[in-house]
Amino acid sequence: GTPSATSRRCTGRIVPRDMAAISPFDSSVQGGDATWEGIRVYHGRIFHLTEHLDRLFRSARALGFENTHSREEVKDAIFRVLAANGMRDGAHMRLTLTRGQKCTSSMNPLFNCYGTTLIILPEWKPTEGATTYDNTAGISLVTAGAARRSMPGVIDNKIHHNNMLQNILPKIQANNAGCADSLMLDDEGFVAETNATNLFLVRYTSMDGVDTDDRTSYVLVTPSADACLPGITRATVLILADELGIKAEVRRVSLSEFYSADEVFTTGTMGELTPVVKIDGRPIGWTGSKRGAVTSLLQSAYKDAVANRLDWSTEIPAFS
Ligand code: PMP
Repeated sequence: GTPSATSRRCTGRIVPRDMAAISPFDSSVQGGDATWEGIRVYHGRIFHLTEHLDRLFRSARALGFENTHSREEVKDAIFRVLAANGMRDGAHMRLTLTRGQKCTSSMNPLFNCYGTTLIILPEWKPTEGATTYDNTAGISLVTAGAARRSMPGVIDNKIHHNNMLQNILPKIQANNAGCADSLMLDDEGFVAETNATNLFLVRYTSMDGVDTDDRTSYVLVTPSADACLPGITRATVLILADELGIKAEVRRVSLSEFYSADEVFTTGTMGELTPVVKIDGRPIGWTGSKRGAVTSLLQSAYKDAVANRLDWSTEIPAFS
């Protein structure tokens, strides 16, 4: 039936995982018409909550969502879901904001007249080795057949949207090839990102090797954010590099620069910094299947930041 005006927000309900339900008339079900964030909790604090909420609300605005929950409502809902699950450390949370429930069977988004739907899905994840990968061992990538579009006139990658087939299909391709993720090129052939993370390479100034204390002996390079999501972890790594006096170049990067790099790693909220040891079957650098020294240095800086940079995180309030 048609939802009543009072069920418009139907929020405030926290339900067990297997009881959670969403209307088949919701715009996310019918059109992948939603925006999302993956957020992590460390030591009773939510890392970069401000930046994640900024991106969520900017994406919602870019998608033309109306009648969204306020920032305070979303924040409060996040706190309550974490508190209800007793999650203060090592938790990962997926936040989805959809255009909302359709009031008729029309596909016209203007007929979504009950406001947006907010879904908060908390999960336990270990702080160390954040994904299924071991963050010291490294993963392999394969170049995807599909391109990541760089033209904002098509669908702007700066919107963190739920049209996930452009991530899912390359992921399937990678997994079928025995790799963790796909490296995706933009429509001009430059490297964009992977299907789930941003990419960095490290180039040593001398092929003889690197001294991590000597900042002139290496440089960090990451593709400019035209065809990739401007990741929050990517931005954090660039800030940390700047603070450490490590030179970073943000520009167009070709696939051959990645093939010939000395170190490669991915960045993302979930996997933090994950070393890449092979791309298209080619071993990266001379480190065998181990992470490189600069990757290791930046991983430590990141780990220190999530634990100690209190200005970069938000405390989860205690609920009685
Ligand atoms: N690229 C894509 C395609 C992603 O889905 C994500 C994860 N949301 C990222 C990069 C990494 O972004 P962040 O560092 O903000 O988690």
